[in-house]
Amino acid sequence: MVRALYMDNSYLKSWNTKVVSVTDGKYILLEQTAFYPKGGGQPWDEGFIIKNDLKFKVIYVDKFSGYISHEVDKIGLKVGDEVSCEIDWERRYTFMRYHTASHLISSILYKRADAKITGNQIELDKTRMDFSMQDYSPEKLRDFVEEANKLIEQDLSITIDYMSREEVIVKPELARLAVGLPEKISEFRIIRIGDIDEQVDGGTHIKHLKEIGKIELIKTVNKCKNNRRMYFKLK
Ligand SMILES: [Zn+2]
Repeated sequence: MVRALYMDNSYLKSWNTKVVSVTDGKYILLEQTAFYPKGGGQPWDEGFIIKNDLKFKVIYVDKFSGYISHEVDKIGLKVGDEVSCEIDWERRYTFMRYHTASHLISSILYKRADAKITGNQIELDKTRMDFSMQDYSPEKLRDFVEEANKLIEQDLSITIDYMSREEVIVKPELARLAVGLPEKISEFRIIRIGDIDEQVDGGTHIKHLKEIGKIELIKTVNKCKNNRRMYFKLK
């Protein structure tokens, strides 16, 4: 299986490729794709697959049996078609900024409060993070967000690397999700923020922290010890 193009280059917005499979007229597999499939709290990419002058809108992207499947709005694409692809960049770039911001917040939650992330959902105008945290207070969360904003000012670089399962297993801080590492995967993609954070991750990220702008805490919710929640937005 070919590695998705967004894995090593989150900034790729357009490329040429070939249709390799069409199911029910509307579910398309491409030889190479940079369309991000829904996963890890990050929504799917939208955009276009273009054949000659005909534009097929990509309305949903998901992974099935390890393959990235693109649902388009109309039938007409055939196996072997040479196509060009375009990502709705405004949508994707917003998700990239939110995704890196959520890593920054989760890094501080982990370091300052030993909190683990139990869920997260990125949206176009906000992100929700669920986490466990023993000693919770809304003031602490405000402080954490302030700390994150100070780190953004330092404009640290975000880099991508790959590590083996053996290397990842001895560093539990690499996989801070409460659910642990997926089985059957032998090589893991690591997202690093400067030298302050590294995490196993399949999402798309910005290159420099300043691209986030500023994080603003919208709301905190205290459900119980293992279920705290916060919403933030970017300015
Ligand atoms: Zn992530």
